[in-house]
Amino acid sequence: MTTALIPGSFDPITLGHLNIIRRAANIFDKVVVCVMKNSAKNYLFDTEERIELVKRVVDRLPNVEVATTDLLLAEYAKRYEGAVIVKGLRAVSDFDYECQIAMVNKKMNPELETFFLTASEKYTFLSSTVVKEMAAYGADLSEFAPVEIIDDIIQRTNDRRQSQS
Ligand code: ADP
Repeated sequence: MTTALIPGSFDPITLGHLNIIRRAANIFDKVVVCVMKNSAKNYLFDTEERIELVKRVVDRLPNVEVATTDLLLAEYAKRYEGAVIVKGLRAVSDFDYECQIAMVNKKMNPELETFFLTASEKYTFLSSTVVKEMAAYGADLSEFAPVEIIDDIIQRTNDRRQSQS
């Protein structure tokens, strides 16, 4: 049994994230999408909301679960049988950073391997930041974000705008 852990902020989950999750679910027995709490980031959605949005999007994928943890991922991974980390790589800039993280994780947990999937060509430009920028300009989000959560992103963006004006 191998379990692929897919960590990220998912603020919010994009079609690029979903593409990596689906592909990992076709390869590994189980996929656990791990919604990380990174205090350095100024999130649009809080942790519970990000979890709920990811759950809604992966609901119909039978071998995909959603989790969160306060632990370092290298420690958290020890809870799962045959755990590996799966990351999506969009560009060379992702590679430098992700290689560094993979090496740190391996140092802390020598059993833990990191697998990289290259981003699908049509999503190489896509990030949660792009989705939030597009939402701020009232753009059509259907090519960027899963349909199940588009209304939530628009609503939250509008609420933020009103509370700041
Ligand atoms: P972001 O990098 O968009 O702020 P996350 O921190 O949630 O989002 O990213 C989690 C992981 O998902 C990272 O490994 C990142 O490389 C990967 N990822 C993000 N967007 C894409 C995409 N469009 N295609 C493939 N992988 C992606």
